Amino acid sequence: MKNEVTGHWKKLVSDPKYLGEADFASGQEVTVTIAAVTKESVKNADGSAEKIVIHFVENCKPMILNVTNSKAIAKVTGEKLVEKWKGARIQLYIDPKVRAFGEVVAALRVRPFAPRQNSQPVQGKPIPCEKCGNNIKPFDKMTTEQLAEYTKSKYGKALCSDCAAEMAKEAKSGQEEVNENN
Ligand SMILES: [Zn+2]
Repeated sequence: MKNEVTGHWKKLVSDPKYLGEADFASGQEVTVTIAAVTKESVKNADGSAEKIVIHFVENCKPMILNVTNSKAIAKVTGEKLVEKWKGARIQLYIDPKVRAFGEVVAALRVRPFAPRQNSQPVQGKPIPCEKCGNNIKPFDKMTTEQLAEYTKSKYGKALCSDCAAEMAKEAKSGQEEVNENN
């Protein structure tokens, strides 16, 4: 059929400009500082909708606000007025089991307490993969920065672990071709 689409439905119905499950490594929690709360037109399955969005001081994608997370931020800050949230530090994580529309889905959540500095890493600048555009996530024992540096020195581009694996595969098959030609 014309204009047929494929892939995970979540990728198709959610706007990649906003923070979501895909931006977190498994179990990762990040601490961010609220810069501003805005109203924006966000793409969704029905086209688009006006949403309240939180922007952060750190170079981190903005987050679409919902009722649960609003309550958590109000608890952390002690403020119900969003204009008073500016400068507040909040801790974000992915809850893998949230019931929504009769299904269990993963959802971006705000911890309802002040960020715990010693146990949780503070997110540095996200580094996008130069191949697929997704943010590079820590892999194995490498941090995002280490993986970016490693792939840059090896492949000339900062890559996510998926793209790096692909490049390694391509490099290997290329090597085999060279060997065959010899
Ligand atoms: Zn990639």
